[in-house]
Amino acid sequence: MISRRFPIAVLMLTIVAVVVALTMAGCERRTIDSKIARRVFLIGIDGLDWDRVARMVDEGRLPNLAGLIDEGSSGVLHSVYPYLSPCIWTSIATGKIEEKHAIHGFLVDRGLTSNPTPTSSDMREARAFWQILSDEGYSVGVTGWLVTWPAEIVNGYMVSSRISTLLRDVGDPTGNDAQLEKMRRGIHPEGMLDDLLALKIMHTDLTDDDVSRFLGTDAIPDLEEARLRRDDIARFYATDLTSLRMADHLMESVPTELAVLYLRGLDLFCHAFWKYMEPDVWPDSISPQMLDTFGPVIEQYYEVADSMVGELLEHRGPETVVIICSDHGFAGHQGYPGFDGEFAVGISMHREDGVIIMSGPGVRRNGRIEDASILDVTPTLLSLFDLPVGRDMDGRVLTEAMEADFLDAHPVTWVESHERGEGGDGKEPISSTVDEEVLERLRSLGYIE
Ligand SMILES: [Zn+2]
Repeated sequence: MISRRFPIAVLMLTIVAVVVALTMAGCERRTIDSKIARRVFLIGIDGLDWDRVARMVDEGRLPNLAGLIDEGSSGVLHSVYPYLSPCIWTSIATGKIEEKHAIHGFLVDRGLTSNPTPTSSDMREARAFWQILSDEGYSVGVTGWLVTWPAEIVNGYMVSSRISTLLRDVGDPTGNDAQLEKMRRGIHPEGMLDDLLALKIMHTDLTDDDVSRFLGTDAIPDLEEARLRRDDIARFYATDLTSLRMADHLMESVPTELAVLYLRGLDLFCHAFWKYMEPDVWPDSISPQMLDTFGPVIEQYYEVADSMVGELLEHRGPETVVIICSDHGFAGHQGYPGFDGEFAVGISMHREDGVIIMSGPGVRRNGRIEDASILDVTPTLLSLFDLPVGRDMDGRVLTEAMEADFLDAHPVTWVESHERGEGGDGKEPISSTVDEEVLERLRSLGYIE
């Protein structure tokens, strides 16, 4: 079923590619010296934990990440408390702390008398790397980054995280004009919607075989809880598969100097399946059958995330720098900073030590990145494109990851600010008819009360 949709999708995307290429040709384009021309792939994996990556790399279970670590520089990427994904991914994208970018969480609390509403991109009060690079004439393609709905007009394309979230939580939008309109606003250029939707994988498209790769047993126990968890696996996996397929085809059909993909699934897997991996930290007893079946799920998903990285690396050319980063690490029990409960649920499972891996021309081989922060990603990215770092940014360029020759040829430069003083378009989020579903999902994950 899935593969039969591909040829049409590829054809349609080719048409979209031409449209996007024409759009990009219309933008004022910076002349790039061929000696410095490079591409960057930035892959964000929510919740990827440094300790687990390091151990699984040692065990030979993450070959693609291992290759990037070997060829490049890597280390812990320190998060900023309270480790809330929308704030952190916005800090990663702006190089600025939460107080400056004004994205405070998944929701905007508009007071006790009204329902909280999901945060939207027009509330961000700092410019993101995709805007700065677009303004400088670089082409950018962004797929799935958090808090990018409505999609922003960039010199390339943007697919909001809301697309895969709506598919996961609300379902197939076919025939539902309200949902389609909402999705259209999550895509720039919006004409890509139909073609991208042709690539979607719904959780109902996944078979027991697709799910079984995550399980420790041949069969799913005949328990209601087991059926719910099987459904979780299909939903979370389908979310990332959809993002991956969209990014894959956009990278192929609309090559941009910067290509970005954010993957949400791992964080969802960690929240839902940690208790089967570390049952001793969970307050309720869990049946041995459930432990046997679902205990391996999280680490199996680490392997899947690694293979997804491998798939994207197939688009890499000799000029490409690859950056892998995460917003925070993950832990299920007390003893890590930031815990105040008996056992961890919701965002209290997030911990400080995320991941940064850089690899490609100009990046040191076998390098160790020390004391890196989520705030350093945008300054480093700008520097890779020979753009100045804003003095009002809170991060630094990760120069220890770069070869001396590269730094000599491309010294870090500075500018007062990349801001234009316009701030966010408005403090009020755009209201959304699916808010209830979004709220329900956030509740079920323990992100809100
Ligand atoms: Zn999380």
